Amino acid sequence: MQNDLHVGRWEERWHPLRQEWVILAAHRQNRPWSGETVNSGQISLPKHDPDCYLCPGNQRVSGSRNPNYSGAYVFENDHPCVGPLAPKNLPPPTGIYQNRQADGIAKVISYGPRHDLTLAEMAPAEVENLVGTWQGEYAQLAQRPEINHVLMFENKGEAVGVSMPHPHGQIYATNFVFKTIETEAKASDQHFAEHGRRLFQDILTAELADQKRIVAENETAVAFIPYFGRYAYEVFVAPKRTVPNVAGLTAAEVVDFSAILQQVLIRFDNLWEMPFPYVMALHNAPTDGSDYSNFHFHIEFHPPLRKPNLLKYLAGPEIGGGNFLSDTVPWEKAAELRKLPSTHYRA
Ligand SMILES: [Zn+2]
Ligand SMILES: [Zn+2]
Repeated sequence: MQNDLHVGRWEERWHPLRQEWVILAAHRQNRPWSGETVNSGQISLPKHDPDCYLCPGNQRVSGSRNPNYSGAYVFENDHPCVGPLAPKNLPPPTGIYQNRQADGIAKVISYGPRHDLTLAEMAPAEVENLVGTWQGEYAQLAQRPEINHVLMFENKGEAVGVSMPHPHGQIYATNFVFKTIETEAKASDQHFAEHGRRLFQDILTAELADQKRIVAENETAVAFIPYFGRYAYEVFVAPKRTVPNVAGLTAAEVVDFSAILQQVLIRFDNLWEMPFPYVMALHNAPTDGSDYSNFHFHIEFHPPLRKPNLLKYLAGPEIGGGNFLSDTVPWEKAAELRKLPSTHYRA
């Protein structure tokens, strides 16, 4: 049984000091995307790569073949970190230790059929199509009883360890709520209880009043580097109206939100005229059945670079202590991005 081999290698373990779950997914060591080397994106990529797992018509490691899709294409991850196949009856750990099944669903979203076309360079309608795909996936996964949170994210660039150049994001739909989201949800409820106002609305009010840290804005959406930013180019993209999750955006809001999202991505690439690496995470309310009406959906970018070849290393304060030491001033970095051209340098 393949499952037996996974016992002790694929499970969730409770970290009693941090009070959070750790996903142990050591069964994935040989996943095919990890060791692959590719060019950094400086060299032009083909529109279709016969060796790519995401290109239309190609065969994946699972043996399944991708259809000749257009638009975004979603499939279950062939090497999931959480999934229904994770071992159920785990041997009990020693003493106070706790573990449980790493139940959930891991998916991959190819942003489109083109191997070489990033979100920054796609047609606006294709970005809207992706936001629509996020909405559909969130709504569908939220209904599943075993799913308490839907984490959607994109790791982009070799600086964040991504060897697969085909533009894509991922979904980890898990049986627990990721720590950052749990903290944001608690802070939002606490703020509402104390002030009778929504926390994120108060953040937007301060940012829009200051204006200095705004990167882009339209009628219903805004992008900014918050006053409390931790990374040099830590941009938040948010709708102006409070909706707890991406599925709550109206069709008109999707258009505005997509436009601002793309403006951020274009400016990122224009900054050093190179494909800009980042971790992008959608902060959606949990799906565990509680009331999250105070939670305000937004996207956070965590770009690892401060300069073209200068990584923001997470070191003593960040990893050792858990608090950030920021080396840059948010309004200066926001002004840098705001002043850049609104069309992509390769267009
Ligand atoms: Zn591809
Ligand atoms: Zn957030």
